[in-house]
Parts: sequence; C-alpha cells; structure tokens
Amino acid sequence: MIPFNRPPYTENEDQYVVASMHSNKMSGDGVFGKKCQSWFEQHLGCSKALLTPSCTHALEMSALLINVQPDDEVIMPSYTFVSTANAFVLRGAKIVFVDIRPDTMNLDETLIETAITPKTKAIVPVHYAGVPCEMDGIMTIAERYGLHVIEDAAQGMMSCYKQKRLGTFGHLGAYSFHETKNYTSGGEGGLLIINDEKLVHRAEIIREKGANRCQYFRGEVDKYSWVDVGSSYLLNDISAAYLWGQLEKVNDINSDRLASWALYYNLLSPLAENGYVSLPVIPDDCTHNGHMFYIKVKDLDERTALLQHLKSNGIMGIFHYVPLHSSKAGKIFGRFNGTDKFTTKESERLIRLPAYYGLERGKIEYIVEIIRRFYC
Ligand SMILES: *Cc1c(COP(=O)(O)O)cnc(C)c1O
Repeated sequence: MIPFNRPPYTENEDQYVVASMHSNKMSGDGVFGKKCQSWFEQHLGCSKALLTPSCTHALEMSALLINVQPDDEVIMPSYTFVSTANAFVLRGAKIVFVDIRPDTMNLDETLIETAITPKTKAIVPVHYAGVPCEMDGIMTIAERYGLHVIEDAAQGMMSCYKQKRLGTFGHLGAYSFHETKNYTSGGEGGLLIINDEKLVHRAEIIREKGANRCQYFRGEVDKYSWVDVGSSYLLNDISAAYLWGQLEKVNDINSDRLASWALYYNLLSPLAENGYVSLPVIPDDCTHNGHMFYIKVKDLDERTALLQHLKSNGIMGIFHYVPLHSSKAGKIFGRFNGTDKFTTKESERLIRLPAYYGLERGKIEYIVEIIRRFYC
C-alpha cells in the first residue's frame, strides 16, 4: 500500500531529541524551543514567534488575544478544519461562513464585505493546501472595518504571497507541526505568529498560564504572579528538538515536495486537457510549498469510484473536509452567509493523492498510471 502520508524525518532529529532529554530543561522555551522561535522570527519576518502544543492551541490563543466575546462574529470559509471554528466558538463567538473560490478552495475575498455586521470581530483566512489567500484584498477590507485578521496558515509553511511569508499579513498567524504537515515537531505542535507588536506582551502571559513568568525570567520583575487569563500553551523542548532537525533541512523538504507536486501536475496534464480531471491552480504572485496534491473529478459518485479504484490498486487517496456549515456543530454555532455555490460542490469532487517528503518518483508515475486506467 502506498500510504497517504509519512511523517517527515531527515537526519538529525534523533540526536537533538536525545540532547534535549539530557539538557536539564525539557519544558517549554528550552534550548531548542528558543532556537526554533528565533529561526521563525528571522525567516518568516514577524515580531514574535511562539511555539505551542498545536495549531489548534495557537488559534485558541488568538481568540483570547483579540478578546473575542460571546456573540461576536468571526468570518471564515466553511471548507476548513474544525479547529479554525472551534477556537472562536470556545469564546462564545458565532461563526459566519462565506463561500470559497473554486480555483484555490480558499475563501472568496469578494464575499467578505457582505458578511460583515456590527458584531463582526475578525476574519480568518485559511491558506488551503499551502496556497495563499488574496491577502491584499482581505487586509484592505479588515482595515476599512477595523477587524482583526488571523491567518490559519497550518498548511502554509514556506509559502509566499507577493514574496512575503504566510502568517505575517494578519495581526496573528497560526501554523501546525502535526505529522501530516510539511514539517513536524514529532507528531503534534504549532506556532503562533504575532505581527501586531501590541499583542506580544499579553501573548507571553496568556501562554504562561496567565502569569508574568516571562518578565520574571528576563529579570524585569522580582517575582511573578497571576496577572491575566491564560492556560498552558508551551511546546515541550523534546518536540522542539525534533522540529529543529527539520528546520535545518527546510529547503530539502520544500524542494522535494515541490518536485513531487510538479511531477504529478505534468503527468496528469493530459487527463486534465481531455477534461477528465481538474488540477490545482496557483495564482500569480503566489508561491506554494507542495503541501498537498489534489485533483477534482466530475462529482461525488465518480470520486467514490475512483477512491475505490485507487485502494484496490494499493494507493491510499483520501477526500478532505466535509464543509463545517453542514456538520452537526456547524449548524449550532454558525451560519452560511450568501449562497453555497462552490463549497459543497467543489469539496465533493476533491481527492488528495499521496504526498510526503521522500515520495519516490516511480510511485507517482504508478499512481498517475492507475488514475489514467480509470478513465481511458
Ligand atoms: C492541521 C490543521 C489545523 C490543526 O492543526 P493542529 O496542529 O493539528 O492543531 C488547523 N487548521 C488547518 C487548516 C489545518 O490544516
């Protein structure tokens, strides 16, 4: 069986994990955590980068940081992971879903304005498949209405919009290092990016259980105490050590994934030209990171048949999100603004093909041949 995913592993992860175990500080913000955080601050270009136990936690911290209150509204696509919505629902917010663009599967920036009400607090664009949302348009609307922007960049490490890294446009950005993402901190992990300087101080406090421990460690206060709401949002240093091994090989991983993506794209182009499948679109001014290779087929029935065909030939293809607005919790906590022209239709047509660091060329050729045989 060709698996859908393999957690990335390069070379030095073992060595760093062991070093962290013997460093006398395995808790958060240890030697490796600090190395990773400065790497992100430097390479992404942001005021502050804080490692968290997951992207879900980074999103939850964001909701606390922008003071989401019960009945506030938060605008996002329905075609996303549950955490994008849950982080705000936990604070009592109502989710307002807008339709996606069929080309990138990202929220349609032209539909945001009609979803804004006096209760709107924030916009949460999701960079699906590591392909950037139209950030200029989104930021312009947010500024005009005084809204916060929190980028769900879980899948977007190393991608750029107009040569600037994802997660650095909004007030806040969230990344994931889950083992299904391009880089992992050993299974679970995340990162909060803070671009609005004014939020840095409070982010450090919220992350440290609501206590001003960071100030204490820096010698700014002589004892620390409870000063705000908070929780335990630090990533342990053993996980950060695994991640450090991956950051050393950041370009190897990125170019390997992009090469797999390009090979799929080229080999599948004849099928796309003949109208059997549609291929992903990368808009001008955007670079991506090969996080995902998906194809879109005619409809749900064809997808079910093709997934079965792949499976019987030893290939693990999978579909993706069931739109949140049609789920049980989505109906309780959210509403869809406008018409669902593309969200349901496009999500039902989508199949994700195996994509991971080290996926062999021959396997991609085999997968494409099996897809070709389904149609021709
Ligand atoms: C993976 C993912 C998350 C959640 O990441 P965790 O680190 O598993 O919490 C959130 N949003 C999107 C879009 C994702 O792909």
